[in-house]
Amino acid sequence: MANIYLDNAATTKPCEAAIKAATECMTEDFGNPSSLHKMGVNAEKRVTEARRAIALALMCEPECIFFTSGATESNNLAVLGAAETYGRRKKRVVTTSVEHPSIAETMNRLEERGFEVVRISPKKDGTFDVNDFTAAVNEDTCLISCMLVNNENGAVLPIKRIFTAAKRNFPDIITHCDAVQGFMRIPFKAAELSADLISVSGHKVYGIKGSGALYIKKGIRVIPQTRGGGQEKGIRSGTESVPAIAAFGAAVKEMSPKTALALTSAETVKEHLVSGISSLDGIKINSPDGALPYITNISVMGIRSEIMLHFLESKGIYVSSGSACSKGKKSSVLREFGANDAEIDSALRISISRNTTIEEIDALLSAIAEGKSVLFRA
Ligand code: PMP
Repeated sequence: MANIYLDNAATTKPCEAAIKAATECMTEDFGNPSSLHKMGVNAEKRVTEARRAIALALMCEPECIFFTSGATESNNLAVLGAAETYGRRKKRVVTTSVEHPSIAETMNRLEERGFEVVRISPKKDGTFDVNDFTAAVNEDTCLISCMLVNNENGAVLPIKRIFTAAKRNFPDIITHCDAVQGFMRIPFKAAELSADLISVSGHKVYGIKGSGALYIKKGIRVIPQTRGGGQEKGIRSGTESVPAIAAFGAAVKEMSPKTALALTSAETVKEHLVSGISSLDGIKINSPDGALPYITNISVMGIRSEIMLHFLESKGIYVSSGSACSKGKKSSVLREFGANDAEIDSALRISISRNTTIEEIDALLSAIAEGKSVLFRA
C-alpha cells in the first residue's frame, strides 16, 4: 500500500502549482528581485504576484503582507518588533501557555528584557475563557499574542472575542495572532480577527519550506529585527527566497477557493476517525470539543508514543508523537490542556490534509488496533 501521510500539521506535501512556480523561479525567473534589469524585474513580479495571492486570501491590501523565511521568523518579528515599538513604557504582554515555541521562547526573551509576561491557561475542558484575557490586560499592556489553532491538539481559540474585548478596553493595545494552523484551513479575513499582526507559513498550506509572511495592519509599526539591504520595505532585509515565495503564493491561490469545502470534507474524515477510535479500548482523545478537524491528538494508553509511531511507520503510516518542533520533549502544551504523564507519554498527533481519505483512516485504525495487540504482548 502507498504511504499514508498523517503529519500535515508538521508540514504538507507541496501541491503541483507550488512545485511548478518554484521550479520556474529556479530555471527561468532566477534573478534577484532587487536587480534593475529584466531578470530582476521578472523575479520581482513573482514576489508581487505571491503577495497579491496571500493578501487576497486574507482580504487585505498587498502592502500589508511582508515575506519572511517562515512563521518562526514572522512570530519573532511580530513579538519583538511590536514590543520594541510599543513597549517603551508599557511593560506587560499577555499570551497563552500553549503557544508554539517560536512564541513561547520569544516571550521568555521579552522577560529577560524586563517585560512582565502573563500566560493564560486553558480551562479544564480545553477551552479558553475570554474574561481571563480581559482581566489580564491593563493600561501597562503593549501587546497581546495568541494562536488561532493549537498545533498539538487542534484547539481553536476565540481570537476575535479575545482581541475585540482587549481593544474595547484599551484601544492602543497591539494584537498578534499566530494563525499558522488555521490559515487555509478555516476561512477568515484579516480584519475579522481584529488582529494588527498575523503570522502565516507556506509549508503548512501546500507550499514549500522556508516561506512565511507577516500581515501588518496599516498604521502599525514593527521595528525590524533584521538589518541589511532594506528588502520588504525595510521590515525584513535579506534577498527574498523567490522560489519559496512564488510557491507559497501559487499554493494559496489554488487552495483559497477550496478552503470551506476542504473543511467540510475534513470534518467527515475526523468523524470517521473519532468513531473508529471510540470503538477501540484504551484510547483517549486529547483534542477538546470544537477542535479543528485537521488535528486530532490521542493517547493509546500503555504504549509509548515513539513505539506506536514506529509501529505505524512500519505499515507506511506517518503520524507525530507531538509537535515536530518539540522532538522527544514531553509536551508541556498537552499538560496545560489537562493531560497527565501517562497520557502525554502515549500521545500521538494525527493531522490530516485536504486529500486524506476514509480508506486511509480505516488503514490507520486497523494498524492501531494491530499495534495495540502486538505491542502489549511484546
Ligand atoms: N506556529 C505554529 C502554530 C506552528 O505550528 C508552526 C510550525 N510547526 C510555527 C509557528 C512555525 O512555522 P515555520 O515552520 O514556518 O517556522
